[in-house]
Amino acid sequence: MTRADTDLVMICTSDVAGQVRGKAIPRKAIEARSETGIGWTPTNVFITAFGPIAPSPFGALGDLCIRPDFSTSVDLDLPDFGVDESFVLGDILELDGTPWSCCLRGALRLALDRLKERHGVTLKASFEHEFHYFGTQPQPGLGYSLRAYRRLGPFANRVMAVLDAAGLSIDTFMPEYGPAQCEVTVGPKPALRAADEAVILRELVRATARGTGSRASFAPILDPSGVGNGVHVHFSLYDENGTPISYDASAENGVSRRAGSFVAGILAHLPDFTAITAASVPSYLRLTPHRWSAAYNNFGKQDRESAVRICPVFGADADIARKFHYEFRAADAATSPYLLLAALVHAGLAGLDDGLATPAVTEEDVSELSEAQLAERTLQRLPQDLGSALDRLSASTWARQAFGDTLIDAFESHKRTEIEIMAGLTDEEVCARYAEAY
Ligand code: GLU
Ligand code: MG
Repeated sequence: MTRADTDLVMICTSDVAGQVRGKAIPRKAIEARSETGIGWTPTNVFITAFGPIAPSPFGALGDLCIRPDFSTSVDLDLPDFGVDESFVLGDILELDGTPWSCCLRGALRLALDRLKERHGVTLKASFEHEFHYFGTQPQPGLGYSLRAYRRLGPFANRVMAVLDAAGLSIDTFMPEYGPAQCEVTVGPKPALRAADEAVILRELVRATARGTGSRASFAPILDPSGVGNGVHVHFSLYDENGTPISYDASAENGVSRRAGSFVAGILAHLPDFTAITAASVPSYLRLTPHRWSAAYNNFGKQDRESAVRICPVFGADADIARKFHYEFRAADAATSPYLLLAALVHAGLAGLDDGLATPAVTEEDVSELSEAQLAERTLQRLPQDLGSALDRLSASTWARQAFGDTLIDAFESHKRTEIEIMAGLTDEEVCARYAEAY
């Protein structure tokens, strides 16, 4: 690949709208810009995925910069695939170089630092992505089928080649259950890199789809009566020496004491941070029972409708401690991977701080339990619309302490505007708007 000195590199941030935005500089300026990055504006955090800008306390005032982190560089020119991508992700900083309160990559970094400082614990994660590809002929009933896979044409292999060229370690690709729905999974990485890769993967899938003359959408749900596009976050914990600590052979279900507290923190705070993981109006069509997403804050074993699931380990092998991990399922791609993972880490950290006991594992269809049975198991139905989820987030002292008032208030203002934009539309119309935006 030959790049000209004037070829552009886009320096980007993944924002509250779940969009990747930035500014481009010529390649020859990279060195000079590596510290100062590009100029950015506080009010940009209020740009919704639909155009209107939510009420911003910053107005036209203020200056920030996005400093590129070149470990995230993507530089691909694959003319046969119609893919030409050159971008790098960065951190939003104040002019004095300190992290900006609404930088989501910074929020994740802060959460991970706290986890390490207070408990000596680090996290690995991998994201499982579902999306729709519009370059195929959708047909119900072809979930997981070779026929659905064949109909994708060269798209699937191209996605694999593009992700591989970008340095991502691909795990699987599948034609998912929904008509024209696909899923891509990648291998586990240290948490910050895992979130970087989640941002990169979505953009590269979009780029690859575009190279076929079509497009891909990561919208949370395309058809109100169908299944959603989930983002499942697989995670495992490690101590200071890199020893896996998620598993304990002598504990019930293999859940170690520390992992149990971490999961308990996630589940206890989940109703307060659902607005972050399911950050769109139609996200709540997906978070309903019997769509294999999650509707309650329950801990399940190999249960695909639990908020956190203990994943199966195949084969009885000696490496079980390294493979044993958990999966968070109540998320979708309307949110930034950084903010999503930051919420999980902050909540897990609170569970460790408070020494919470491992939650009981549910073994039934929790949507069939009565209010009394739910209360007995200390389970809660997750908020059922974005407005109620925002009420919970905004009133949560824990969330305000974890993320800071500035970010919580900005998030709320942004998302309330999004709700207003969707007011009066039918579910079908709302899904159509999001299918375009994501
Ligand atoms: N589509 C389901 C969701 O919205 C997930 C299906 C699965 O991969 O288990 O999360
Ligand atoms: Mg899936």
